[in-house]
Amino acid sequence: MSIAENLIEIRKNIPQGVKLIAVSKTMPMEIIQEAYVEGQRVFGENKPQELRDKYEVMAKDIEWHLIGHLQTNKVKYIAPFVYLIHSVDSIRLLNEINKEAIKNNRVINCLLQIDIAHEDTKFGLLEEEARGLILSDEYKSMKNIKICGVMGIGSITDDENQTRKEFINLKEIFTHLRDEFFKKDISFCEISMGMSSDFSIAIKEGSTMVRIGSSIFGERNYLK
Ligand SMILES: *Cc1c(COP(=O)(O)O)cnc(C)c1O
Repeated sequence: MSIAENLIEIRKNIPQGVKLIAVSKTMPMEIIQEAYVEGQRVFGENKPQELRDKYEVMAKDIEWHLIGHLQTNKVKYIAPFVYLIHSVDSIRLLNEINKEAIKNNRVINCLLQIDIAHEDTKFGLLEEEARGLILSDEYKSMKNIKICGVMGIGSITDDENQTRKEFINLKEIFTHLRDEFFKKDISFCEISMGMSSDFSIAIKEGSTMVRIGSSIFGERNYLK
């Protein structure tokens, strides 16, 4: 199936109110352009330089999301334009994002990445760590950051019950944090969860943003 056909198929399964982020990492511009022509305006990438390079060439009405692990020294590449950073996992990183946001005279939207899978290969905060971050004086002094919700990556598993448990857990953590710290802040409303293999479960469990790559663009070839 073509990229256009894949997009049409996937959109049928995504309800109103859930944002589809087309994960275009490793894909060349002409492939991304095919999705753009089909009306897709929201794209996700996991590498800051690749994201910047694509931002520079592609149409300027695209909303670009950084979904992968972010090193502090690379925030500068995306700070001028990034729409949402999904992968904030330390106060040090948040501090750097705030600094770069000030330099660019903007507020940068962020999600706290929560460790829901407990796999060694995955990043993220535990619920207590997220709470500690929000309670810190350092965070409270940051004027150019907006925390809009949480993000999580499910385990790599065929066990749907395991995946479902992890997504239920992320929703619970979101609710705890919202009720404790963001009651009056309507912009704390996003739960980024669900990828090609598990987005239907994620949507059932309350996802507001799904990050879908291979089901739209096909398998990635990292050797290219
Ligand atoms: C690559 C990636 C995705 C998309 O994965 P697919 O299985 O191709 O849909 C989603 N989220 C993150 C953080 C990723 O790195």
